[in-house]
Amino acid sequence: MKDTAKHQGLRNQLAAVLEQKGITNKNVLEAIKKIPRHLFLNSGFEDYAYQDKAFPIGAGQTISQPYTVAFQSQLLEVKKDHKILEIGTGSGYQTAVLCAMGAKVYSVERQNELFKQTTVLLPKLGIRPKHLSFGDGYKGLPNHAPFDSIIVTAGAPMIPKPLMAQLKVGGRLVIPLGEEQQIMTLLIRKNETQFEKHEFGEFRFVPLLENKN
Ligand code: SAH
Repeated sequence: MKDTAKHQGLRNQLAAVLEQKGITNKNVLEAIKKIPRHLFLNSGFEDYAYQDKAFPIGAGQTISQPYTVAFQSQLLEVKKDHKILEIGTGSGYQTAVLCAMGAKVYSVERQNELFKQTTVLLPKLGIRPKHLSFGDGYKGLPNHAPFDSIIVTAGAPMIPKPLMAQLKVGGRLVIPLGEEQQIMTLLIRKNETQFEKHEFGEFRFVPLLENKN
């Protein structure tokens, strides 16, 4: 599959839609304009790739809706060279958006099939996360901690303690919390023991599951 001027036009339109829906961070919108979302989907979805919708990506998982990707990315307040841990690599689209924003991304995926796919796809597209790993994101990546921020892209029944422990003081943890529906939740680490919590309305994610598959 190729990336054409037509795709670029559709991406520009998508960024405009996200801006209308309330995304204000210019770096997020630029990253959405830059990353060829159609290349993260099966070719059958090519015509739909720039609609603001989630789609299946195999292994019973989905690529998040662009609005959700943009909303979470905005909450992270990404700065260049920030070290970010992502739980749930999935298609690699969110990973790519964070890389385009200049972050050093460490991402974990529990579905081996998806892990293998993104390990091949991302470098092919010239996108180089710092580290992709196959494992259980509930545990975080203790060997690479601490992180400037952490993003969880699956619905979590509770906040995994290891993720809180692996966040720098001043760092931001963005996690959708809940079973059927999730409340987008932001934790800001104030000091060694205190976290400030903010909530941002309802979203719908596939579940964060334990162990590898
Ligand atoms: N960021 C992805 C979203 C994929 S959906 C994208 O843009 O495409 C969420 C992903 O989280 C799925 O791929 C699922 O397999 C993964 N996941 C679920 N539980 C996990 C866990 N405990 N550790 C790591 N990944 C997990």
